[in-house]
Amino acid sequence: METENYQQVPTEPLFLTKVENLEQEIQDLKAQNQNLKDQLNNKIIHEQQLALANYSLQTEIIDRQQTEAALRLLVEKLAGEKNDLELILDTTTAHSDTIEALLYDKALSLAREVTIDGLTQIANRRAFDQRLATEWQRLARECSPLSLLLCDVDFFKRFNDRYGHPAGDECLKSVAKAIESCIRRPADLAARYGGEEFAVILPSTQKDGAIYIAEQICQAVNALQIPHEASYVRSHVSVSIGVSTIFPERHIDAKVLIEATDRGLYLAKDQGRDRAVFNIA
Ligand code: GH3
Ligand code: MG
Ligand code: MG
Repeated sequence: METENYQQVPTEPLFLTKVENLEQEIQDLKAQNQNLKDQLNNKIIHEQQLALANYSLQTEIIDRQQTEAALRLLVEKLAGEKNDLELILDTTTAHSDTIEALLYDKALSLAREVTIDGLTQIANRRAFDQRLATEWQRLARECSPLSLLLCDVDFFKRFNDRYGHPAGDECLKSVAKAIESCIRRPADLAARYGGEEFAVILPSTQKDGAIYIAEQICQAVNALQIPHEASYVRSHVSVSIGVSTIFPERHIDAKVLIEATDRGLYLAKDQGRDRAVFNIA
């Protein structure tokens, strides 16, 4: 005979209802548990968000504090500069006349530097070029002659070699003064043409007048009596001069006159130096 060994599940309705209630309670508790877990997660997320927001707030506060400090420094600096500017303004207002005079002097000396030769203090090559160009145009309009002299120190290389370069510089200064002392009209211009060469522009001057001035220059340089033991022509410093005259025309280049004068200088050197030689342009 078979024995039934399983327990018998009570099947009374009351018991079933209890079981159902318990199952429902378990379900509710599970739901509550899930709910609590969700709440806990949300809380953690909120806390993280709060920590992040807190951190950015702290960073912003530090940034602002730094910006504020920098701004304060800037304001102090600007205030200092404002004071300095006010002081400068007061000073310039109080001394405006002196400052104007200083600026005027500065402008004059700058203009001078541009046109004056530093060593000899007579007009420089730039001033010569400008003057020749303007006189060329003016005399072309007036149908008036223009004479040019090119003066060159004789055996100047030997002078430098014998007495030294500084003595050579002093010699050039004296020669420049001597040349300038021979020109008298306001329109005349003596300039350092380059190295130991000097040029003289003689507007409205004919051949005879130009030769006369050139000879005066030769004499004035001789009269300086600057010893030149190494010279082959004199025992003192002398110059050779090329002379030329032209009636300028607008369409002819002033170079024509310079080249003719330069040939005159070459002839003066060739004919024995310490002299002026005229050459037709
Ligand atoms: P010449 O009689 O044929 O003119 O002979 P020179 O020796 O005068 O001519 P050269 O052209 O051979 O030499 C010119 C010399 O002038 C050479 C150069 O050193 C000198 N010289 C040029 N400019 C200056 C300067 O500013 N100062 C000095 N001390 N010497 C200068
Ligand atoms: Mg020369
Ligand atoms: Mg020379």
